[in-house]
Amino acid sequence: MTRPTVAHVHLDAIVHNYKRISALVHAMEPKGFSPWDNAGAKAPALLPVICVVKANAYGHGAARVALALEGAGASMFAVADIAEGVTLRDAGVTQPILVFGAQSVSDLGDVFAHGLTPTVSTPSAATAIEAAAAARGVTIGCHLKIDTGMNRLGFRHDNLARTIPGVLAMPHLRIDAVYTHFATADRPESPMFDEQRVRFDRACAALGAMGLRDVRRHAANSAALIRDARTWYDAVRPGLLLYGVVPPPLAAADLDLRPALSLVSRIVAVKGVRVGEGAGYGLHWTDDTPRTLAIVPAGYADGLDTRLANRGHVLIRGQRRAIVGSVCMDMILVDVTGIDVSPGDAVVLIGSQGDQEITAREVAATIGTIPWEVICRLGARIERTY
Ligand SMILES: *Cc1c(COP(=O)(O)O)cnc(C)c1O
Repeated sequence: MTRPTVAHVHLDAIVHNYKRISALVHAMEPKGFSPWDNAGAKAPALLPVICVVKANAYGHGAARVALALEGAGASMFAVADIAEGVTLRDAGVTQPILVFGAQSVSDLGDVFAHGLTPTVSTPSAATAIEAAAAARGVTIGCHLKIDTGMNRLGFRHDNLARTIPGVLAMPHLRIDAVYTHFATADRPESPMFDEQRVRFDRACAALGAMGLRDVRRHAANSAALIRDARTWYDAVRPGLLLYGVVPPPLAAADLDLRPALSLVSRIVAVKGVRVGEGAGYGLHWTDDTPRTLAIVPAGYADGLDTRLANRGHVLIRGQRRAIVGSVCMDMILVDVTGIDVSPGDAVVLIGSQGDQEITAREVAATIGTIPWEVICRLGARIERTY
């Protein structure tokens, strides 16, 4: 690799996390009212984990991650859009791939060409998928999304009698599963989490009464999965947990997850700064003692957040050191006063060094965002090594 800044992706950690999640949910019998049955196959005895690998597997590299998980027995994947699904198929993924996004305005050719499983999440998506299937003379297996309170995609839970009969009457759509998505599973104080589960139960009963049979149900994102086994239904749908990050403010020590990503770089230059001088764009940092700065070649173009300026930390020689001055496009400055450093020394931006660790959760808390954003934003310029 020619660039010093590299993301090390630990596929064994992702497989370990997948197995830990599987073991947790397999401790419970599936309680679906009918089997998962996309192709007339026998239902698996165990609750499947739908591995969410959207957004390039949360920055970790979708193809490598999905193939590692498939090798470990993963039986379904989920992605945000059709193009992400095609990427997985091109990489050789053979298991079902659920596409979360609305497919109302997309060219649906690749759904059929690559055997993807679309979500029917709006009336216009249903119409578009039905028309595309009819044009090809095929029936397509879909998952039906119910909006139980998030007010994003999905058919409103309280309006199903009006919207769903038309969908069920579409001759080229086969609904294999029904799902919903929680808006507040990571906010323990919000009553909406329980409310959405209750609404989903009612919606499933209503759909059954309309004649929808032989479908599975799924709802649990990472936060719901660790909070309430009643949300597991017939499959769970974790993303963040697979990558070894627990959604804040929740804890899941028993799960024993391993962080899958470390972001490392190397010092490329060391520089002395005199009293009262500033450093970096805007000279937003000064000090009243002489300081030594290390220049590290990673900046906002690599996905580092500009709010790390004068706030974030990195690990150098086993010590936690402050990022000073602004985050530049391609570089940051780190105060290394008092430690003996030279160009080439390792810098850890996310990960551990010695007995110190900087987690994606810590970085997110430092800059006031969520860990999902921290890992998803890792720039395309950063080489991933596996
Ligand atoms: C992203 C996503 C998930 C996974 O969410 P995590 O919080 O990362 O576990 C599950 N379901 C849907 C519909 C999603 O969009």
